[in-house]
Amino acid sequence: MQIAVVGSGYVGLVAGACFADLGHIVIVVDNDEQKLAALNNGQCPIHEKFLPELLQRHRGHRLTFSDDLHSAVAASDAVFIAVGTPPTEEGHADLSYVETVARSISGAMNRYKVIVEKSTVPVYTSEWIRKIILRNAAAPDSFDVASNPEFMRESTAVTDFLYPDRIVVGADSHRCAAVLREIYAPLTDGSYYKRQGAIPRPDRAQIPPLIVTSTKSAELIKHASNAFLAMKISFINAVASVCESVGANVQQVCQGIGTDRRIGPQFLNPGIGYGGSCFPKDLKAFRAVAHECGYEFRLLDEVMHINEEQRRRFLHKVRSALWTLRGKHLAVLGLAFKGGTDDIRESPAISLVETFLQEGCRISAYDPAAHERAREVLNAKVDFADNPYEAARDADALLILTEWDEFAALDLPRLHTLLKYPIVVDGRNLYDPESMAALGFTYYSVGRPAVSPDIPSVEPQPAPKAFKTS
Ligand code: NAD
Repeated sequence: MQIAVVGSGYVGLVAGACFADLGHIVIVVDNDEQKLAALNNGQCPIHEKFLPELLQRHRGHRLTFSDDLHSAVAASDAVFIAVGTPPTEEGHADLSYVETVARSISGAMNRYKVIVEKSTVPVYTSEWIRKIILRNAAAPDSFDVASNPEFMRESTAVTDFLYPDRIVVGADSHRCAAVLREIYAPLTDGSYYKRQGAIPRPDRAQIPPLIVTSTKSAELIKHASNAFLAMKISFINAVASVCESVGANVQQVCQGIGTDRRIGPQFLNPGIGYGGSCFPKDLKAFRAVAHECGYEFRLLDEVMHINEEQRRRFLHKVRSALWTLRGKHLAVLGLAFKGGTDDIRESPAISLVETFLQEGCRISAYDPAAHERAREVLNAKVDFADNPYEAARDADALLILTEWDEFAALDLPRLHTLLKYPIVVDGRNLYDPESMAALGFTYYSVGRPAVSPDIPSVEPQPAPKAFKTS
């Protein structure tokens, strides 16, 4: 199949490279000249496992990059829109990028095409795209608009795309659904997985089902999935807060509830809250679209509220550990919104670093991939270290803000000698409290009793009034 993907960000670039790996001929279109130059020069502009290999494999053959949307659309059977849908000030999804692309597509219709929403968009967007294309004089039977939401997670995006739990296709005609079935056939018939050179199969991956729904249902599936996952995170964070109040251990609680197959262990990771370019904006957009349709989705307000509270609670923990903050030197491990990516959009780590800077702290930070992007928002106010140990040297405390694998395997005795005071405040629960106390650390984590070498289990402190939810 001939495919155009509009937008070469986290979703568009990964989708384009993976479609090429499935055997399709793909043109990825972007209007960011710098990004295109980097892509055409053989660079990979984002940190994503297996993506450099796929780009190298297909660039210039089955995968090309262009700023010419008109020619790309004219050459294609399916056009995937994967541009950003950032939040407006009122919390709606800003669909202006989608609209611009839809308008441009309409001028390039030369045969039947399927226009596919890959971006996360509110319900009814496909109807708007259809209207825009019709308004610009395309014939009604010359195209269909489909919704094909993307469920990839940054850091495992390529594997998620090629080994998905399911593929959702929202299509209102058989003709349209057939095009998308054909595009994904190498995954749904399992032939891709038998190929030499296929991206390695993750544990428990199975041949994915392709679920065909109406376009409206598919649009809702994406918002509802993200809202549910965010709810799971906020739920366990709320449970963690109760654990802190009574001196219980949230990790034990997670094991006890996560082994129930109806609940499952995934996304039960207490921490400093969710971030990234999707959950925060998608929850707001889902809340806003529900409100417009006459339903007050108050559950989502509470999910967002708990998420905000997690950062304040972490700040309180650092205060409990250090008393006053002005002039303190904090070593920060992790700036990306999660491990395995360089994406810092809506990163709780960045937001906390900004708060600590406002409080007058000195910050030395280390992240395996996000320095370049973090420098753009934190300016020169942060010292960026080359490794975790350099960040920790002479610091009053070490804060773990992102769950990179390498932060769970630190040389702890070395860290102990480098820190001015052996205090670790772990926002991602990467270590076992008793082992940390045995190594001589005062250790604070989320939903588990704080420990120190002299007091292996510090008494829980009642949360200040500001943390109590109404
Ligand atoms: P991104 O900001 O990384 O990329 C968007 C790209 O679109 C940019 O390269 C931008 O230059 C390009 N673009 C904007 N307007 C354009 C135009 N008129 N013509 C050509 N290119 C244009 O965004 P992203 O993270 O890839 O997300 C894209 C969409 O996918 C969003 O709706 C997001 O919610 C959704 N999504 C993201 C993820 C994720 O993990 N990032 C996962 C699932 C769904």
